[in-house]
Amino acid sequence: MKRSKTKIIFVTGGVISSLGKGITAASLGVILKAHGFSVNNMKFDPYINVDSGTMNPFQHGEVYVTKDGAETDLDLGHYERFTGRDMTESNNVTTGKVYSNVIEKERKGEYLGDCVQVVPHITNDIKERIYKLVHGKDDFLICEIGGTVGDIESLPFLEAIRQVRLEYPMDVLNIHLTLVPYIKTAGELKTKPTQHSVNELRRIGIQPDFLGCRSEKKLNKHLRAKISLFCNVIEENVISLVDMKSIYEVPINIEKQGMAQKIMEYFNLYETKKSDYLERWGAFYNKLIHPKGKIKLAIVGKYVDLTDSYMSIKEAIVHASSYLELETEVKWIESEELEESTDILKGYDGVLIPGGFGERGIEGMVKAAQFARENNLPYFGICLGMQIMAIEIARNILNLENANSTEFDKSTKYNVIDIQETQKGVKAKGGTQRLGHYPCKLKKNSVAHGAYEETIILERHRHRFEFNNKYKELYEKNDVIFSGICPENDLVEVMELPNRPFYLGCQFHPELQSRPLEAHPLFIQFLKIIKEVMDESQK
Ligand code: GLN
Repeated sequence: MKRSKTKIIFVTGGVISSLGKGITAASLGVILKAHGFSVNNMKFDPYINVDSGTMNPFQHGEVYVTKDGAETDLDLGHYERFTGRDMTESNNVTTGKVYSNVIEKERKGEYLGDCVQVVPHITNDIKERIYKLVHGKDDFLICEIGGTVGDIESLPFLEAIRQVRLEYPMDVLNIHLTLVPYIKTAGELKTKPTQHSVNELRRIGIQPDFLGCRSEKKLNKHLRAKISLFCNVIEENVISLVDMKSIYEVPINIEKQGMAQKIMEYFNLYETKKSDYLERWGAFYNKLIHPKGKIKLAIVGKYVDLTDSYMSIKEAIVHASSYLELETEVKWIESEELEESTDILKGYDGVLIPGGFGERGIEGMVKAAQFARENNLPYFGICLGMQIMAIEIARNILNLENANSTEFDKSTKYNVIDIQETQKGVKAKGGTQRLGHYPCKLKKNSVAHGAYEETIILERHRHRFEFNNKYKELYEKNDVIFSGICPENDLVEVMELPNRPFYLGCQFHPELQSRPLEAHPLFIQFLKIIKEVMDESQK
């Protein structure tokens, strides 16, 4: 029998989507890390896109960019935030990636003589991607299978994980998440959907070892016994996952139910070195739910109907708020609504404009930036938000009429934002933007430098357009400070308006590197200054 030092935990989901598989997989990482184990995470996405980079945020939510420049599923953001481990391109596997690799190999003649099939060729490719991460130095690999059991799309992935267990019977654990709905009229929690979902899994040869039962109300012993009997899972391993106020409470909840201990018993593992990770996590959470002050922040974007599109920004605000012991009430404002009037911004203490693509809603954002500047409100522009800041300053301070980005107006006379030189010949859309980590040098005595307390920083990027350096001098003559520059190509990474509390734009995405236990310095600084300005005005 083959053995693997790295234990593999597969997380599947049934009944409905949006059960929180990603948060559960990330939370398992937290508690195992807290018991001294090293943990890696992986996600399978059963769609045919090679990565999520070409999908509309309304379809897919946020595109999470890793430091090596992969455009991945937003669950990778949860993994990084929860375990603190940086993800890479190989931690997110899509159907598109698998098939294109197999087809490329077929064309090269690597399967010469074979009829290339889902089993074994596609499933072998999937397994190889798992084993690539398994034979490392980690104690655990937690692998989440996207989609819902019963979907056509996820079948090859489920078949592959069935085979992994056959190859490493002692080193694999399957956790299946289901929904146990509460039927108000009957006053009861219902287990039938869970039974059906487990049947569906067993039909394809996967017997779950643990069940995570999502429900509005806690499962009592009687229900857990019933689920155990019908689903063939021992009663202690039927875990009740009641809805929590915050995703950050989930690790605390599953640890209370002895989840890490159960996993260790299952694999016959002993804790060798305990860490203080869960204590620190608890302290973070405690500060989050006991704020000492409150601020109101307006976020002006174009995908605000689905705030999952801005997942990392939401979370970065939560991290900085906990750090500062503040409650930040966020109002998501559809930028198109501001084209007529910006009155709605009057009730807020700060304005943030996040990233985005395409022309829709741009004029509303420019108005929001103008409102913040003219009313001395702290302003934080991220990626597109920095470009908006540059456009607004050009039009209203530098008097460059109709200045714009060539992304929105190809024939603008004043192209203060323009396509990057290296992007000019690029035709293909997938994975071709300026992506991932690039260095940035910060100017001393700037707000940015004050926040980071460092001169060279590394941040993650995802953009095709940039500040047009042709206009730099003109901006500088009008007091604008270019406080962050990429030393590799002179690209503007941070710009600021001085003599103001916080009026700053950055071309990178700081939100991607914010962690609950390590809030991002720019978010901390932004919220801190909002609170200071508020307190000052109330004196
Ligand atoms: N659309 C802009 C660009 O491509 C901004 C991108 C972003 O906000 N991520 O440069």
